[in-house]
Amino acid sequence: MQIGLLPNTEWLKGTVELSPRGEIVVDERGQTSVPGVFAAGDCTTVPYKQIVIAMGEGSKASLAAFDHLIRTSAPKAEAVAEAA
Ligand SMILES: Cc1cc2nc3c(=O)[nH]c(=O)nc-3n(C[C@H](O)[C@H](O)[C@H](O)COP(=O)(O)OP(=O)(O)OC[C@H]3O[C@@H](n4cnc5c(N)ncnc54)[C@H](O)[C@@H]3O)c2cc1C
Repeated sequence: MQIGLLPNTEWLKGTVELSPRGEIVVDERGQTSVPGVFAAGDCTTVPYKQIVIAMGEGSKASLAAFDHLIRTSAPKAEAVAEAA
């Protein structure tokens, strides 16, 4: 087995969608199957596992997360207090 081929995503089972190879399934923005949860890099379904690609994907997922947050209204203070 060549080092670096298996993503360490066991702990995500039952949360975000994983591919049969254990990669986190992302769309072209790095969005996972859970709205507001983004992923990037070798542990995702992005093709070609190389440093420059992981860096670009990280930048893209960060921008997508920002884009998601500015379009999402913050929970009311009372709701946050009740959840705590
Ligand atoms: C042997 C080898 C040679 C390579 N040679 C090249 C090359 O010449 N050129 C090139 O462009 N690419 C090369 N690559 C690929 C390159 O290393 C990867 O594409 C790049 O490192 C991916 O970056 P990443 O941030 O997605 O993942 P990683 O660099 O793998 O970073 C993931 C980090 O998350 C940490 N982590 C894992 N699980 C957890 C957890 N549960 N909690 C907290 N932290 C966790 C890991 O310890 C690691 O530090 C090579 C890869 C290997 C294995």
